[in-house]
Amino acid sequence: MPREYPIERVRNIGFIAHIDAGKTTVSERVLFYTGVSYKMGNIDEGTTIMDWMEQERERGITIMAAATTCYWIPTWIGFPSSQRRENKDEKGRKKNQYRINIIDTPGHIDFTVEVQRSLRVLDGAIVIFDGVAGVEPQSETVWRQADKFRVPRFCFINKLDRIGADFQKSLDSIYQKLTLNAVPLQIPIGEEKTFRGVIDLLKMKAYYFEGKYGEVIKKEEIPNELREEAEKWREKTIEKIAEQDETLLNQYLSGKELETEDLKEVLRKATIDFKVVPVFCGSALKNKGIQLLLDGIIDYLPSPLDLPPVRGENPITGKEEIREAKDAAPFAALVFKIATDPYVGELSYFRVYSGSFKKGDSVLNPTISQTARIGRLFRMHADERIEIEEIFAGEIGATIALEDVSTGDTLCEVTRPIVLEKISFPEPVISAKIEPKTRDDEEKLAFSLKKLTLEDPTFKVKIDPETKETIISGMGELHLEIIVDRLKREFGTEVNVGRPRVAYRETILKSAEAEGKYIRQSGGRGQYGHVLLKIEPQCRGKGYQFVNAIKRGIIPKEFIPAVKKGVKEARDKGVIAGYPLDDVKITLFDGSFHEVDSSDFAFKIAGSIALSEAAKKAGPVLLEPIMKLEVRTPEEFLGDVIGDLSARRAKIEETKNILRLKVIEAKAPLAEMFGYATSLRSLTEGRGTFTMEFDHYDIVPKHIEEEIIQGKG
Ligand code: GDP
Repeated sequence: MPREYPIERVRNIGFIAHIDAGKTTVSERVLFYTGVSYKMGNIDEGTTIMDWMEQERERGITIMAAATTCYWIPTWIGFPSSQRRENKDEKGRKKNQYRINIIDTPGHIDFTVEVQRSLRVLDGAIVIFDGVAGVEPQSETVWRQADKFRVPRFCFINKLDRIGADFQKSLDSIYQKLTLNAVPLQIPIGEEKTFRGVIDLLKMKAYYFEGKYGEVIKKEEIPNELREEAEKWREKTIEKIAEQDETLLNQYLSGKELETEDLKEVLRKATIDFKVVPVFCGSALKNKGIQLLLDGIIDYLPSPLDLPPVRGENPITGKEEIREAKDAAPFAALVFKIATDPYVGELSYFRVYSGSFKKGDSVLNPTISQTARIGRLFRMHADERIEIEEIFAGEIGATIALEDVSTGDTLCEVTRPIVLEKISFPEPVISAKIEPKTRDDEEKLAFSLKKLTLEDPTFKVKIDPETKETIISGMGELHLEIIVDRLKREFGTEVNVGRPRVAYRETILKSAEAEGKYIRQSGGRGQYGHVLLKIEPQCRGKGYQFVNAIKRGIIPKEFIPAVKKGVKEARDKGVIAGYPLDDVKITLFDGSFHEVDSSDFAFKIAGSIALSEAAKKAGPVLLEPIMKLEVRTPEEFLGDVIGDLSARRAKIEETKNILRLKVIEAKAPLAEMFGYATSLRSLTEGRGTFTMEFDHYDIVPKHIEEEIIQGKG
């Protein structure tokens, strides 16, 4: 079966935004105008399509990434809007239609990992801003991540109908905080209550959106009173675009009138090359500007073909290989999301980078060396699944029943193995004890937790070896709350959860050596394990490394895994307060054995003893997670907010003015930040906001270390 859409007409995009900027409303309008949903839902009534998970509806925020496909014929092609909305049926698709795969991204910072994994598979993004607040701290965080993943993007300044909306100020905040290369392509007609439409600065036309849902697009001359202003804006925009291309620049400098098509072409290329960021505007709630935003996706964001081929490693040769975005290339896809679907069970969402794949074919998951036959293939339309026969390069699809697959795994052609670059996930910083409420829950709990850890790589579960308690860990208070919520709703498992605790670590300040002996020789077969270890500090973030430097069989090879296991067990328990030792290198360099009495058991214990002894001699200290914090408050509360932060051991790094607000940048230990939301609210009469994300681990001050150790004991 040939592909339905040429790859040039595919866009894989996502909307990214600060929470509340209007991402859900924009997505919903997009689905409406593209004909996926006929009923225009309203976020405030909790009926949106994208937020299909029940608790997301209740919370009114988007947490889990879902992928959804829609189709669009750009308005410049000139179909009447009634036809444009008939694009629901794939078979009845029109010529000139584009396929847009939308990958949903969450807005809350506790879920940056969700944002990251979406960014990994997106080809382009639209960053949505609240036209009253301008650039907010979270948008800045996500912007930096999008830079890291090299995602081409454009901006949409939303909510221009709101009181206090200010296009110029919002644009200024983009210049100030994000990029000097923003290029406005539109300006609003009116603002706040009088916001009526937008002026396209390339075409120099005014657009209005009429009808009940803004579905009737009217293109008119620019109103006289705005002509001069629009000319001024256009001049700057044209200049910026012309600068991106020599031929265009020469034409511009010689005073020639530039063709809109040429401008668009240069702008498209410059956007894909990260040289500029176009800016659009409108109001999703009032149904203004969304169709032009859809045109923008087609005009300025890349198709999979516009981007460099994906790279990966051949697991057999260890060499780097590339895969081109071509149907004839070997199949390679990346699983970016696993979600439990109430109807079909476990769904794995994947992005195909190269090649094509038919239902019934087998794929290899090289990470776990497993081959699986794919029985069913889906294309997702929010919560509606459409079964498909085949999937092609550049597309997003989903499948079921891929056992043991984890987020970030590669799926590839069985005879052409490749492991695409993994998505790297941060370690959890907070943990809590969890226990089933009833016997019935006990049986379900282990199963449900396993499912959740496969879905979410930043969520971890372990059993405390001493107390046998189940400990869950994640990226923040809200993250764990949502997990507990999902246990109840999706798995019908009721649990009690302990107070969240900071996930401390331990490390050492200097090198040390120690001996571990486990020798029992009192009649019969004895025990004999004897090792010497060296422990050395490593730089922060290095983790834990075990090196075997035993030569000439001083300890026979078969006992080394036992030593390693013993060392790991002791490392997991730490030596100060029961937290794992990190950023250490452990070298096993000497020891001895006994022909008869040596055993795995004896060497394991010797390994544990040696590590604990070495770590105790090496100046052990506690490490705590330090969070990066950005707090915004009206000026009158600044003193109180800073006072409170100082009491929480925060280090203030900078205080700035942005849009009539004071913005404090600080670093603070997570241990002091529990309940900060409530505290900030009461200090600022509800007007302060903040974002917080994990930054690094640092040494706990001595007097506080004492308290933690005592608290544990
Ligand atoms: P998200 O958190 O980014 O997904 O934002 P939502 O789409 O949920 O929107 C947050 C709030 O802003 C909701 O109450 C929306 O109705 C409202 N909202 C979204 N877009 C607009 C807009 O263009 N104008 C106005 N006035 N409100 C909007």
